[in-house]
Amino acid sequence: MKKIEKYSFGIGDRFTMQGEAQLRAIMQANDLGIPLVPVWNKSNREHQIVRTVPADTWSEAARAVGALNYAGNWYVDADHINLSNVDAYIPHSNFFTLDVADYIGRQGEAAGQTDMLRKLQPFTGELNIPGIDETFSITEPQLEGIVNKFHMAVKEAALIYRRISAERGNEDFIAEVSMDEVEEAQSPVELFFILLMIDHYGIPAQTIAPKFTGRFNKGVDYVGDVDQFRKEFEQDLLVIDHAVNIFNLPRNLKLSVHSGSDKFSIYPVIGELIRKYDKGIHVKTAGTTWLEEVIGLAMAGGEALALAKSIYSSAFQRMDELCGPYATVIDIDKQKLPDPSEVDAWDSARFAGTLRHIPGHTDYDPMFRQLIHVGYKVAAEMGTAYLEMLEKHKEIVGSQVTENIFDRHIKRLFDL
Ligand SMILES: [Zn+2]
Repeated sequence: MKKIEKYSFGIGDRFTMQGEAQLRAIMQANDLGIPLVPVWNKSNREHQIVRTVPADTWSEAARAVGALNYAGNWYVDADHINLSNVDAYIPHSNFFTLDVADYIGRQGEAAGQTDMLRKLQPFTGELNIPGIDETFSITEPQLEGIVNKFHMAVKEAALIYRRISAERGNEDFIAEVSMDEVEEAQSPVELFFILLMIDHYGIPAQTIAPKFTGRFNKGVDYVGDVDQFRKEFEQDLLVIDHAVNIFNLPRNLKLSVHSGSDKFSIYPVIGELIRKYDKGIHVKTAGTTWLEEVIGLAMAGGEALALAKSIYSSAFQRMDELCGPYATVIDIDKQKLPDPSEVDAWDSARFAGTLRHIPGHTDYDPMFRQLIHVGYKVAAEMGTAYLEMLEKHKEIVGSQVTENIFDRHIKRLFDL
């Protein structure tokens, strides 16, 4: 089995043009002694909207690695895949995010549910997790609820995992189980029993993406109770520690934070806790790079700024359509967005300042940013006109991409 490093960073790239700029940020971290590895992730949803195929992501990554003489390990993540779409990714990925959120709460046949409940029953009573002061009292109805909620999801993850290993003829890849795209957070106790089931089905998951408490909206900061997040994240780390000790799971199993870009208010918490317990982490980002492309174009001025403005204007007109697929992960109040006619009068600095995520900056507008975030479909529809503009201004665009990942993300997470 391929084994993922302790620290990995998911760098999604909608238009597959920023591989080098992204890798540069990872290499800057390496230069400062942080053994971080890159994972190029792209979901099926993104591929469909942008009209790219899994092989494009692989070749982008390979090109970047070659161009920069990067000598470390690197991965391409088939992000949020399921049985219906995994096949196309199998030859072009070495990391698979098995998304089973849709299976949460589904009911399997009664006998299977009863068998699983029997596996959990020995944990009825007091559950102590080393390192957690609080004792959890586990009741039979609670276990039944957990089986009803999560058993089919884990079973589905096993089916996807087996399909990948059968098609590849090996288990030489990273498997992540993701349950993050749901409204309700999974508690540390639920995570413990999910891990038991993952072990039962023999899925060698090396990363797991639960839904954490609070809102993880796309491209903007965390919205929620940071103290509550801290408590839950710390307990999750200890639950995983205990689970890898008593179940047969990979020792390097670690948490994966999805929609992980821009969650600046919790990065210091995550960083502090993984260092306290000497744990690994995977942070997954995607749209933040696309936003930097638009910022770079705005800064380039002239026709590039005009193109950035037209993306905003179209996204504003088509807001409902564009927001639909992201309904659970964005919060936009249309009334608070600037009118496109107003934006038309902005200069480069004003547009870039409104879009760029600098907490406390007077121009920064998270609503504007979230709308552009889902607006990549507009750029995709522009086809070569958009791509050629990126190529023309690749220096300034690339520098924005690198700076965003390194200065605003990696530095905060690793306290550099
Ligand atoms: Zn996700």
